[in-house]
Amino acid sequence: MSKRYGDRRAVDDVSATIQAGAVTGFLGPNGAGKSTTMRMIMGFDRPDAGSALVEGRRYADLDAPLRTVGALLDAKAAHPGRSARNHLIALAATNRIPRRRVDEVIGMTGLESVADKRVGGYSLGMGQRLGIATAMLGDPGVLILDEPVNGLDPEGVRWVREFTRQLAREGRTVLLSSHLMSEMAQTADHVIVLGRGRVLADAPISEIVGSA
Ligand code: ADP
Ligand code: ADP
Repeated sequence: MSKRYGDRRAVDDVSATIQAGAVTGFLGPNGAGKSTTMRMIMGFDRPDAGSALVEGRRYADLDAPLRTVGALLDAKAAHPGRSARNHLIALAATNRIPRRRVDEVIGMTGLESVADKRVGGYSLGMGQRLGIATAMLGDPGVLILDEPVNGLDPEGVRWVREFTRQLAREGRTVLLSSHLMSEMAQTADHVIVLGRGRVLADAPISEIVGSA
């Protein structure tokens, strides 16, 4: 895929195959094109050239997309006045996800005590848990996590890392991004290094760490 903003090439002919059932990391400094690539996979940005396929289809062509791919999005900012439970109930309804799944993901992410409070008042850590609950709502095979540990305290970082590894153990495909090599070493099986919108390396974590 390629994507320009004005005369800036945000993503410049990026081509990759993401391994199923493993954690792949996009590693690169701020501005490398990680978010733009992920947003194009999710259908939130339109590539100028190329396309991304998730389980063989473009995101826009998926019916009930949340059941195929879950992304870590800022649910707090999108609907600050809603409770987590109501946010999840609404998304479950539009994606034909059973209502009982809402209580499951609230339990899975430890949100029980705040689930009926307005999400606008959540701490960063709770907002992150809500983002993960939302991403997991449809029990998707593919998870897209853009900078999942950014801004979290050490306990939150540990929780997100463990959760990410657990997803891969369950056979899910995880694509995450970070500007930190240390984060990749903790969670990723495979790393795609991006710089100025281009793929600089695409290799197992052992090779990337070994060469750093
Ligand atoms: P990363 O996630 O690696 O930090 P981004 O994908 O956010 O990188 O950004 C890649 C480049 O595209 C940057 O130079 C950024 O300033 C630019 N960019 C990203 N989104 C926009 C936008 N909506 N409008 C203009 N420029 C953008
Ligand atoms: P609303 O119309 O209530 O604002 P959203 O904008 O939150 O709804 O979501 C619209 C659609 O986008 C959802 O039905 C779902 O298909 C998709 N979507 C929302 N959140 C996510 C997510 N975290 N991951 C993947 N897809 C999502």
